[in-house]
Amino acid sequence: MEEIGERPAKLTSFRNIWNRLLPHIVRTKPMSDLCWECQKNNAAVYRSANLPDIVKCAKLKKQMDHLQLVAEERTLYRDMVTECKTSVVGLKLGHNPPCSRDIKGHYSFDFAQQVHIPSNPLQPGPIYFLVPRKCGIFGVSCEGIPQQVNYLIDEGMCSSKGSNAVISYLHHFFENYGRRKDVHLHCDNCSGQNKKKFVVWYFAWRVMNHLHLNLSLNFMIVGHTKFGPDWCFGLLKQNFRRTEVCSLEEMAACVKKSSTSGVNMSQLVGDESGKVLVPMYDWQKFLTPFFKPLPGIKKLQHMRFDSKQPGLILVKDSSDCEETAVQVLKDVRIRPPAALPVTVAPPGLDKKRQWYLFAKIREFCTESTQDIVCPRPAGQVSESSEDEEEIRPPPAKKSHRNKRVLKEKN
Ligand SMILES: [Zn+2]
Repeated sequence: MEEIGERPAKLTSFRNIWNRLLPHIVRTKPMSDLCWECQKNNAAVYRSANLPDIVKCAKLKKQMDHLQLVAEERTLYRDMVTECKTSVVGLKLGHNPPCSRDIKGHYSFDFAQQVHIPSNPLQPGPIYFLVPRKCGIFGVSCEGIPQQVNYLIDEGMCSSKGSNAVISYLHHFFENYGRRKDVHLHCDNCSGQNKKKFVVWYFAWRVMNHLHLNLSLNFMIVGHTKFGPDWCFGLLKQNFRRTEVCSLEEMAACVKKSSTSGVNMSQLVGDESGKVLVPMYDWQKFLTPFFKPLPGIKKLQHMRFDSKQPGLILVKDSSDCEETAVQVLKDVRIRPPAALPVTVAPPGLDKKRQWYLFAKIREFCTESTQDIVCPRPAGQVSESSEDEEEIRPPPAKKSHRNKRVLKEKN
């Protein structure tokens, strides 16, 4: 509009005009949670309307088998939570020595969508197009209690969701909250094959070193992954949307206040100044020399580890399959040390990003948090920070963007 000399409409006016003139065209809700298998099967059922009954039946059966499998896996998850619930009556998450509690623990872990700090329920317009300081959230939930520890990951601490990060947070959780003899775990199955490999090796390492006696790792079926962490993240986000949060400390308080019964706990991975509170270890480098990949790892839904059989993993494709034993140690005589890997220093924020926060975001912070979240960087003013603007994609657009990337890849 500017190019042709007209006054462009603001976003709110645009929306109002759109809703008045084209009320029948609405934005699609994010569909990231839909199951691809369900979609494919259902489409096949619709399209079979004019086909012979026998073909229709076959297509219908395929989807019913899929739903049956989903139901079985869901039952297994519920049973594990219930079993944990009966053994943790009256308990809270707390610090204990390894294997000190002769009770069955069940935990689930996942990442939430990251949030931005500062955040204000009365969001001032200009910040919409800016990128405030990012804060990742990784939750480990004990549904039986129920309580969840939320790891708050500042942008300067870690920007990826890689295996070193996931394992380091899990390690911190087990060291501080989850030292049970027998542990069952659930997680979603969306993570890449490579990440899954390292996570599996890590659990083999834990059990081999008698940090647990028995452990099972169970993956939710892709597209049917609503579980404990989502419930806790929901509470957290609800409170986040109605609270002014201008620093990590305020974010931690917001997490704590998101439930009256103390369901959500918080743990800072590090503070804004770069001080590390949950160390990141180089698990990849540490585990790689000793372990070999698990064949067909992508398809495996269940894995069991027993401290009496170091390196041996009992795997199966679904809860009603027979178990197969697979040895993941390269050489059963050589085991990885019990000592921890070397730590990895946090990447921190680069100069450009520091100047961006100082120049564009600082004004949205409260006076007391300005120097914590967007302090003046040391050294000279960066030239690039003033003219280059990073634009945050609105949440709903994200899925379209991913789809486009996928299409391009194909
Ligand atoms: Zn499905």
